[in-house]
Amino acid sequence: ERCVANQYSHNFNAFITPLARAGQWLDRVREADERQEQGTPKSAVDGRLISVKDNICTRDLPTTCASGILEKYTSPFNATVVDRLEAAGAVVAGKTNLDEFGMGSNSINSRFGPVKNPRRDASGEFLSAGGSSGGSAASVAADQCYASLGTDTGGSVRLPAAYTGTVGFKPSYGLISRWGVVAYANSLDTVGILGKSTANVRDIFDILNEHDHRDPTSLSVFSRERIQHSLHNPQLTSRLKSTPLRIGVPVEYNVSEMTSSVRRAWAHSLAHLKKQGHTIHSISLPDTKHALSTYYVLGPAEASSNLAKYDGVRYGTRAEGPDGDGRPDGYLYANTRGEGFGQEVKRRITLGTFSLSANAIDNYFIQAQRVRRLVQKDFDAVFTAKHPLAAHGTGITKDNDVDVIICPTAPSSPPRLSDLMDKSKPKSPLEGYVTDVYTVPASLAGLPAISVPVTVSGEQEAELAGIQVIGQYGDDHLVMKVGEMLE
Ligand code: GLN
Repeated sequence: ERCVANQYSHNFNAFITPLARAGQWLDRVREADERQEQGTPKSAVDGRLISVKDNICTRDLPTTCASGILEKYTSPFNATVVDRLEAAGAVVAGKTNLDEFGMGSNSINSRFGPVKNPRRDASGEFLSAGGSSGGSAASVAADQCYASLGTDTGGSVRLPAAYTGTVGFKPSYGLISRWGVVAYANSLDTVGILGKSTANVRDIFDILNEHDHRDPTSLSVFSRERIQHSLHNPQLTSRLKSTPLRIGVPVEYNVSEMTSSVRRAWAHSLAHLKKQGHTIHSISLPDTKHALSTYYVLGPAEASSNLAKYDGVRYGTRAEGPDGDGRPDGYLYANTRGEGFGQEVKRRITLGTFSLSANAIDNYFIQAQRVRRLVQKDFDAVFTAKHPLAAHGTGITKDNDVDVIICPTAPSSPPRLSDLMDKSKPKSPLEGYVTDVYTVPASLAGLPAISVPVTVSGEQEAELAGIQVIGQYGDDHLVMKVGEMLE
């Protein structure tokens, strides 16, 4: 009840649809309380309020994707992840605000207005909550729920976690079902989890980490066994139990754009791990400097195809206009999309349509796919464990490599909302894209990555930054374990 009261008393615009103040959810929480008292809780989240990003379908609440085009849309079914949480006794704590269809890094591209970060800067100014799962992160940070489900295509769970001081986890691609999750870029999309601690996030991950026959990209039971066999074989299991771990620090990530507080938090985290007996090794990921541009070719290309279905006929809102042989001043399809989509979504559809067009595809889309392979290879070359799903990939090969990689989640602390929204100082979209430089490599390679809040004493006051742990494909529990060491 306190969480729901917080949803109404603190307006960070974290929710597009909050929970009703008086509602059926209360009965479900009380039933869970009884089970708790009897010592028979359904799971670690029985009776917990878990908010859900508004691009994940729910039968009982609308799913808008923060878009005009789905403004009044309610799905006829629940996403698998929602069904799984409910079966575990959790209660959906409302639908959280986001950048339209997940496109953005500050949760300001929303039909329902920007999300405000519950943390403000020293002068009391509102800061960006990060994006695109900014509403999910803010709802956790402001105690408006216990934890939240977001989606992470190129950093959308990790970046908001870093900006709001929460924990954000992006699992290996294909582990958590995407059925009922509105697609942005299918080959990159994952469902991620935001919580106050890694332990909370792990509980939820363990509930959701199962094969789903309705999602064709959900990892098969066979492949899951193969991961177990490969990553948890006797020679490697020591990594989960004892020290020391080999920690990698990518030399290329030490960019000049990084602010001093982020640099301090990174150094502090490495020193902390070293003190616990782990060893630090510099590694090279030479192709990751191309990861950002690759991501911003592939993401929009997939999005342009996915978003073609919003035509005013099958889903969502429909604008006025003649159907088919209408006048040059507008047809139903053009009017619906023109009015329904926001500026950033239109930009990406245009970009994606171009890079897939006959004249451009070889130079953009195909090249980007090649670079994506190189980024994946870079990671494979530095991890001790081989990629468990690679052609001949079981077991261990090398002994001079690393178990996990540690780097910042974002190059700087959250920008002020007023600066981002100031129309007199128009920003190039590229400025926003650069924020994703540390998060997109793991997305392109499908690897598990977590962002945890790290506080260091700064020049004047304590400073907070998100530090990221990236691991080999399928090594999700190791990534969370190292994240926990840094909390
Ligand atoms: N900021 C990135 C983008 O705009 C990532 C978004 C995401 O992960 N959904 O595409």
